[in-house]
Amino acid sequence: MRVAGLPPLSKLGEFGLIRYLGGRFGRTSASVLCGIGDDAAIVQPLSHRELLVTTDLLVEGIHFQSGTASFADIGYKAAVANLSDIAAMGGSPDYILVSLAIPPQRTTQNIDQLYHGLMEACRREKVDLIGGDTSASHQALFIGVTLIGSAKPGHALRRTGARAGDLLYVSGTLGDSLAGLSLIENQRGRGDAKLPREHRRYLVGRHLRPTPRLRLGRILSSTKVATSAIDISDGLGGDLSRLCEASAVGAEIDQGAIPCSAACRAYAALSHIDPIQLALRGGEDYELLFTVAPRHARKVKQLARQAKCPVTCVGVVKPKAHGIQIRQRTGILKPLNVQSYEHFQNTKRPAKHR
Ligand code: ADP
Ligand code: MG
Repeated sequence: MRVAGLPPLSKLGEFGLIRYLGGRFGRTSASVLCGIGDDAAIVQPLSHRELLVTTDLLVEGIHFQSGTASFADIGYKAAVANLSDIAAMGGSPDYILVSLAIPPQRTTQNIDQLYHGLMEACRREKVDLIGGDTSASHQALFIGVTLIGSAKPGHALRRTGARAGDLLYVSGTLGDSLAGLSLIENQRGRGDAKLPREHRRYLVGRHLRPTPRLRLGRILSSTKVATSAIDISDGLGGDLSRLCEASAVGAEIDQGAIPCSAACRAYAALSHIDPIQLALRGGEDYELLFTVAPRHARKVKQLARQAKCPVTCVGVVKPKAHGIQIRQRTGILKPLNVQSYEHFQNTKRPAKHR
């Protein structure tokens, strides 16, 4: 919902903006003893919980382009990037802090919409906005989001727990977000115009409004069925290699098992690309990659049904010396060529996905 007649930022000023944002988005639950407005927020910690704390910085021109997404979508995804980190730890998100550096071309309306999207993603999980920081910026919009969550002591899922012999699972489908981004960027380019409208809508939606897999993460941690987990924000290839490195293991994944949606496959066919490449390289799917001891193979399917989130076994954890390999559809094993975005190295690719 747009708010008509908001005063310009120059008139509102930093403190006027903070007051406005606090009044409109800062409503909090009883555990927040002091929210926006003092030097620090005061929260009553939940007893018998461990705190999970995560932060993410989004930079205009690197992580998002204001021309291809609305400010509400940008805000929504900024929240999801953090919610997904809490999901991957198997926790529940509780409090959010949002820091902004705002360039002169942005309006109060833009910032209002940004918070609208942010809090839309948070409301579903009853996350309270308890603070942030505000600055001017010369050119780009910077959005720093910090999320505080909690987990049952000793239950948080880490990247370090995978053991050789464990099965590798992913939630949902992979590659949709990159397909959606390509559709947004190439409006009517190449064969995309032939893509059925419902497929286009689905893929663009998966890019702009991804789903953090909180329920699945929580169920995997509370039952101790997963031995490790990571969220897929940089493509299956990149995040699998990070999980393997943290756990000091190798892996073998099966190309034919990687779940791709019908929409992603249709898009890939029309664009003459392999959907598996979208799944391996495409970031921002925000699905979970996790490992499970083989004795829990049946249990994990049952838990996934309970969490209303499909999961697929895509391979198996191997000893470290094995490296990370992918079994081609022909049956031949090949080392997995990991291509994911790295800041400072991908200087020729201005946006995170290119
Ligand atoms: P300080 O000078 O101590 O950093 P500020 O004036 O920056 O205090 O902040 C005052 C209050 O407003 C604090 O509660 C802070 O957390 C909150 N706040 C500042 N900027 C934002 C923002 N962009 N979003 C939400 N809360 C904010
Ligand atoms: Mg401040």
